[in-house]
Amino acid sequence: MRKLFIAGNWKMNHTGTETERFCRELRAKGLEGHKADLLLCPPYTSIHAMVSVLGDSAMNVGAQNLHEKDSGAYTAEISADMIRDAGCTYVLIGHSERRRYFHESDEGVNAKLKKALDKDLSPIVCIGEKKEEREDGVTEKVVRKQLLAALEGLSAEAAGKVTLAYEPVWAIGTGLTASPEQAQEVHRFIRRTLAENLDGHVADRIRILYGGGAKPANAEALLSEEDIDGLLIGGASLKVDDLYKIIEIADTINK
Ligand code: PEP
Repeated sequence: MRKLFIAGNWKMNHTGTETERFCRELRAKGLEGHKADLLLCPPYTSIHAMVSVLGDSAMNVGAQNLHEKDSGAYTAEISADMIRDAGCTYVLIGHSERRRYFHESDEGVNAKLKKALDKDLSPIVCIGEKKEEREDGVTEKVVRKQLLAALEGLSAEAAGKVTLAYEPVWAIGTGLTASPEQAQEVHRFIRRTLAENLDGHVADRIRILYGGGAKPANAEALLSEEDIDGLLIGGASLKVDDLYKIIEIADTINK
């Protein structure tokens, strides 16, 4: 049994002041006793505001990135210890926007993942194909390569602590969404690949979230698919009502 997981990635949105207001409104709706694990990943500058308001609630707080080194001359970068000290327990790694705009490589993702695990942060590793790769029929090849490169050198036990997010790049922030069937097909492939390369029990335990245009209107259908264990939500997580609606939809999912 994998517990459902509803996670929001705010990207470069919401100031500290806006974050505080958002979190108070969200908390007032009721964050305790929901079926899914809950997570929000605000910008670094809003982590403090979020932790101040939600730190003692069921909402987990995560960072959107980390640096693989512990400290040093890496201007503008943030270490795992800094993230933990700020109150985060999760971290996103290898989001497609990091790969695309900041040239993050599979090797870099692997180094960051190892650092996150080393420092007891729960990592969410993002993988997914671009539009032209889907059109060329190489989705599985691309996803498999990203997955195995990310997990390279990890024991099955360490890999079991990872959450994966399948995020087809063509569906992120574009208004497009993979259909539940399209998403399930890739999620099943990812789980099969995990089973072939790790312990079968571990593969069964790892949660695989879907990300790309998730919103209240499609959350139920996506979450009902067998291998979709939750959602990583960008745009819709920026609005209290939309995010809360999705949390409530997760409460109704039986699997
Ligand atoms: C994301 O940023 O991870 C994402 C899935 O964005 P959106 O929901 O806006 O497509």
